[in-house]
Amino acid sequence: MSEKNFDYKQYRDELASEIKKESDKEKRREILQRTQGTEEYQKAKRLKQETFVVKQESKAQTERLLQYAQKHYEECTNFDPDIVELINVINKNQEKFKNETLLNVSDELIDKIIAFTEGNRDERIIALLKRVNFDYKSLLAGEGDEQTKARALLEAILKAQSYNEAVEQNRNKEIDFSGFENDPDILDAKDFIYRVFDAELLQKCLISKVKYAPDKINVQINGIDYMLPVDVYIEWEKVMPEVKNRKFRAESFVLWNTDTNFSKKFILTPVYFYSFCGEQPEQLNYFIHIPEKEKMRRYKLGTITHEIAHHVYAYLMDADKRTQWKKLVDRTQTITEYANSYVKHKLKYDEFFTETVRLKTTVPDYLKTNFPEIDQFLTDNFPEIKSYSPCKTNSDVL
Ligand SMILES: [Zn+2]
Repeated sequence: MSEKNFDYKQYRDELASEIKKESDKEKRREILQRTQGTEEYQKAKRLKQETFVVKQESKAQTERLLQYAQKHYEECTNFDPDIVELINVINKNQEKFKNETLLNVSDELIDKIIAFTEGNRDERIIALLKRVNFDYKSLLAGEGDEQTKARALLEAILKAQSYNEAVEQNRNKEIDFSGFENDPDILDAKDFIYRVFDAELLQKCLISKVKYAPDKINVQINGIDYMLPVDVYIEWEKVMPEVKNRKFRAESFVLWNTDTNFSKKFILTPVYFYSFCGEQPEQLNYFIHIPEKEKMRRYKLGTITHEIAHHVYAYLMDADKRTQWKKLVDRTQTITEYANSYVKHKLKYDEFFTETVRLKTTVPDYLKTNFPEIDQFLTDNFPEIKSYSPCKTNSDVL
């Protein structure tokens, strides 16, 4: 087993539970002594210590960056009025949910839910729970009283129902794109997005606006956003190169919608993009056959389709599709280096999906040749998502 794939946490957990199972104190000590002599135990111990050191170092690094930012860029901290409004809407929805929605639930629905907890699996209820990826099987099999379980089911169902309402309210509304007029590489970003995703699919993505600030770099430290003019950022990077890892190219808020505890109702959310300064698309292996002068444009467009794909994954990949997708991803090699950085992260399957959409919409041949099964999954489940084709109205760029 290579060091990289050795899960020291799992090893230690298993050892701990093995020792726990043994009631005899003397025997417990024996197991521990025997294991301590093994190579595996020593490896797990070393990895645990190393992880601790890395954590401490990154804590210290964050502290240094934060001190520097507070000293020099305090005036660049960003309180985006759109985000403040978004939080207000979510808070209002929470109140309304408690004081109105819950009180007005029909007796019919309550009866159905109670029957559901008793084993009567109504197909429509299952479909709603799957839509919000609610794990009802674990809930029903787990501990807790019937009333608490019924309440959790009810909340999940109401949340799921609010998705269709939100899509309905979003009908015929175009997504507001702004800031793209300042970047000659992607003047046609909105047309491009509507062409590759299709208006109906975009409506289901519940996006309020796509805002691009090509002249600003977003540095996030401890949850604080510093919006820096590009030249100011470059100065900082000269002094502290590690700030590079805190640079955010894009931001979406889908997780606010999918978090059942936070948001009680689906709402429209914005997507933000920041400067691509310092990005090196020429180093990406999937661009190897793309002409040099076209790489940056495709990279930028791909970053937008990646972010939009987060919405597709969050709202339109139900529990059944996810099961299929996870199996497929687990037997596939990393599709991009970026996706690879999420291999041990809980968002792994999200990022594999969004990177797949990036490839499909910017280098479709690369995806089809190297990952035919993944490409097929996308075609089967989201036939609306189209491959990249050079934009005719912008031929001077290409
Ligand atoms: Zn992503």
